[in-house]
Amino acid sequence: MTVREIRKNPFTGEVVIFSETRQDRPDRDSSLCPLCTGSEEVPTFNKPLRISNKFPALSKDVEYRKYKKDSFYEKTSGYGCCELIVYTDKHNSKFIDLSVDESMGIFEAWMQATKQLSSNKNLKYILPFENYGEDVGATLLHPHGQIYAFPFIPDYMKKELEAILEYRREHNKCMICDYLFIEQENTDRIVYEDENIVALIPFFAKYAYDMIIYPKRHISYLHQCTRSEMVSMLSFFPIAIKALNKFFETEVSYSLSLHQGPVNSEGSTAFHLYFKLHTPQRNKQSTKLLGAVETSTNTFISGILPETAAAQLQKLML
Ligand SMILES: [Zn+2]
Ligand SMILES: [Zn+2]
Repeated sequence: MTVREIRKNPFTGEVVIFSETRQDRPDRDSSLCPLCTGSEEVPTFNKPLRISNKFPALSKDVEYRKYKKDSFYEKTSGYGCCELIVYTDKHNSKFIDLSVDESMGIFEAWMQATKQLSSNKNLKYILPFENYGEDVGATLLHPHGQIYAFPFIPDYMKKELEAILEYRREHNKCMICDYLFIEQENTDRIVYEDENIVALIPFFAKYAYDMIIYPKRHISYLHQCTRSEMVSMLSFFPIAIKALNKFFETEVSYSLSLHQGPVNSEGSTAFHLYFKLHTPQRNKQSTKLLGAVETSTNTFISGILPETAAAQLQKLML
């Protein structure tokens, strides 16, 4: 029997998703790609296509239930949604090699998923992401991304939203708009900028080469983007990933995730959306592994200042 549960840590408020089906994932035969056109999951292909994840961590087929016993045992059923987006019918291509026109279809699928899934009042957060490489857990080679829809606001986003709402109460302004304004005056951490977007390594980066890509305009959801903003973002993503590949002289593993406003939640339009491009790569030979301090305290130790990393990458953003 499949067990899917979302359990809450009563001491920290953090949640953990348990999904025993993921343990049963078969080792796939790479000669039989399940995302190639003609397969059971993708019978035909015209444009980026949303399909259900066959091995979902969260599932719509689970009844949405809450459970609490004593002060310690709070959980909900593993309700939610996990989808894949098949980007192209070309098995050997990559996200960074797609044209802006091709990747526009991916943006449209992300927007459509956010709108459609948010009509389900039990869902609170929609997370589209693209991940590539073994070091971030990508298991299928065929170019694809994923969408997770959670019945809760993930802890990281919840803390961000609380800070943004607190800042708005105090200053009556958007915290991210203000942060961007100051970063643009300083420029030490900015790696790229055009009329619509700013990409930077944040002052507080946990991983040395993580970048955040902000639209300059205050928008909370992807479907509020203009076409020009979409083109800016889609043109920049391959530039940034190729810059990392050049810098590390290897093909880095990375994830590119969309942080947008929560859905079906109060104060969501206060959120200023952004993309986070994360790589665990720390030098040419190795990725960052979490040590005792990081795992026991969730306090990271980084050997490179964001200003140094930004200066290294800036000149490769061609
Ligand atoms: Zn394939
Ligand atoms: Zn803003």
